[in-house]
Amino acid sequence: MKQPFDFIQLKANAVRNKKAYETLYRHYNGKKIKHLDEDFAQLHLEVFAEIDCLSCGNCCRGLGPRLIPTDIARLAKALNKKEPDFISEFIRRDEDDDLVFKTVQCPFIGDDNYCKVYEYRPKACREYPHTDSYNMAVIKKATIKNCETCPAVYEMMDRLIKRKAQELKTKKK
Ligand code: SF4
Ligand code: SF4
Repeated sequence: MKQPFDFIQLKANAVRNKKAYETLYRHYNGKKIKHLDEDFAQLHLEVFAEIDCLSCGNCCRGLGPRLIPTDIARLAKALNKKEPDFISEFIRRDEDDDLVFKTVQCPFIGDDNYCKVYEYRPKACREYPHTDSYNMAVIKKATIKNCETCPAVYEMMDRLIKRKAQELKTKKK
């Protein structure tokens, strides 16, 4: 299994940085909010050019995707199973009444971090970690939480904090 990241340290660092993340978002208050999506979109491209998800797989092992009915229908079809059989084998309802996989570690993650159902993967998997979305302000809480799991989100946030600090320094000169 390829895992070059120290996920325990990542989580500890992200928890420790929570205040700094909140402070960072305050830089985007008011009219500056429009820059938040742009900044994240740029960092998303930058960081994912450096971090290969196949060297990580932490979201697939530690966060279950929330499933929607079309995900279930697509996966059942791809696995050549009847939907009720697929549901009884793989799906449960969680405490929030969401449909999720029975196991926290996704049943379709391989030891090599490849997704065995990649072409048919759930919508939530396609969109994770959402850092190229157009509503970064709305998903602030989730993004801060994702720093505990996703090394790419952690890195984006870290770079953004450093850039904002540099901008402030330059302004003061
Ligand atoms: S379906 Fe694929 S992408 Fe989604 S959590 Fe499972 S292994 Fe990861
Ligand atoms: S999205 Fe983040 S947590 Fe998931 S595999 Fe890629 S780097 Fe890892």
